[in-house]
Amino acid sequence: MQFKNIFKFHGGVHPNGNKSLSTSLPIGRLPIPKKLVLPLRQHVGRVAKLKVKPGDQVLKGQIIAEADGNVSASIHAPTSGKVLKISEEILPHPSGLPDFCITIEPDFKDTWIEKKPISWKKLDRTELIEALSQSGIVGLGGAVFPTHMKLRINQSQPINTLVINAAECEPFITCDDMLMRERADEIIQGALIAQTILGAKECVVGIENNKIEACEALKKAAQKTAIEIKVVPTVYPSGDAKRLIYLLMGIEVPKEKRSMDLGIQVFNVATVAAIYRYLELGEPSISRVVTITGAVKAPQNYEALFGTPLSELIIAAGGSPNKTKKFIMGGPMMGFDLPSIHVPVTKAMNCVIESSPELFPAPKPVMPCIRCARCADACPVNLQPQELYWFSKSSQLEKAKDYNLFDCIECGCCTYVCPSNIPLVQFYRYAKSEIIAQEKSKEAANTARERNEFRLARIEREKKERAERHAQKALGANEKQADDEKKSTIAAAMERVKQNQQENIKT
Ligand code: SF4
Ligand code: SF4
Repeated sequence: MQFKNIFKFHGGVHPNGNKSLSTSLPIGRLPIPKKLVLPLRQHVGRVAKLKVKPGDQVLKGQIIAEADGNVSASIHAPTSGKVLKISEEILPHPSGLPDFCITIEPDFKDTWIEKKPISWKKLDRTELIEALSQSGIVGLGGAVFPTHMKLRINQSQPINTLVINAAECEPFITCDDMLMRERADEIIQGALIAQTILGAKECVVGIENNKIEACEALKKAAQKTAIEIKVVPTVYPSGDAKRLIYLLMGIEVPKEKRSMDLGIQVFNVATVAAIYRYLELGEPSISRVVTITGAVKAPQNYEALFGTPLSELIIAAGGSPNKTKKFIMGGPMMGFDLPSIHVPVTKAMNCVIESSPELFPAPKPVMPCIRCARCADACPVNLQPQELYWFSKSSQLEKAKDYNLFDCIECGCCTYVCPSNIPLVQFYRYAKSEIIAQEKSKEAANTARERNEFRLARIEREKKERAERHAQKALGANEKQADDEKKSTIAAAMERVKQNQQENIKT
């Protein structure tokens, strides 16, 4: 396919990007912190299995928790040192709930385990996927889905097109932009490797037109390859995989399908760069580029080891002058407030924004819906946000489901344009969680009912069996009695016959 045209998707918005705040300086490197806290759950899928215990010495790049099955990812030591403890710690998650983490005390020698680059050209696809399952690489665009799983293909539907997502459409976030400017070669090499593994005929990079330097760097790195760099308009949410596919190819991925079902696979730029580093350099996933921006004194991007306390990142960015202590992880459209600044950097942490009243003024009072339909015009999924709002608000959850609530990607476009300042996405999140909770409790009630029915059936069966046993016993006893009576009647008759005979002899 020649990627000649751009196909504009329905809806979308143009919020202020605020990207230049953090792109004036190159990617910085954070010093090794005094401790690293590594959650066992940093990816979609099963929690990684612990491979170390307190007191163990570990080397940089050593597996400290191993992928548990296919949909899971390993965790590696980001530097050398000693395992201090395995304990529950607060994570960068909207719930603010703690989860199990490995805490490492670095020895500051930063000693690598023996690096083993992989001659990937000599391996077949299965061997390569197996090798990558040890890499700890997950989707670094925010999805954190184990990457090796996305390289498995369905034999009945080969992958024709590999799309590299370089859109980075959320305001404030610039970690991919800076990575492309500085490490375009790694991205292009990683894209070629992914294309080979997938057996894709073509590869296209989709990049928004507000990233001029990054685009130039990619074009230069891709000069001698067949990879196409395609510039798309700056419109939020062009970085959503299905929206980017539409922009580049004009193909609508149906709601019940994945892009793979149509022969298209999508990887983020940072993910393919990580594939390159693992296979060519033997370096597993131990760090990522994080944007620290917003109200901090010196917004910048930093290469941060996983497990680094966020507070260290804030200090590196000149600290927090306004003392709001409100930090958002991700962008302002889809991100969430962090529960603390003492959470660690994880594989999902692409950006942290310090909030301030100037950047994020207090929400205006919520007014009634005026049925203006601006939300519907802005919705990139073609939903009816005002109807979803009404059904969610009035707890008509079945209706909300009928209006495709679960197709909502929570992009926030509807909230952004709503003149009545209604926090629409919050209502959808509430409705989704209510439906999920109700379905779970329905499932639990069904299980309980089935168990009770089974129990009653067992009691009934046992009762019946007991009754049968008693009946048989009783029958046995009656037969014996009858038998005894019969025997005694015969014996009496015999006795009488005997007596008669004796009397006859006497006479
Ligand atoms: S944009 Fe807001 S006010 Fe307008 S229809 Fe949608 S929910 Fe109602
Ligand atoms: S948040 Fe959901 S309903 Fe609102 S614009 Fe995005 S996809 Fe549409």
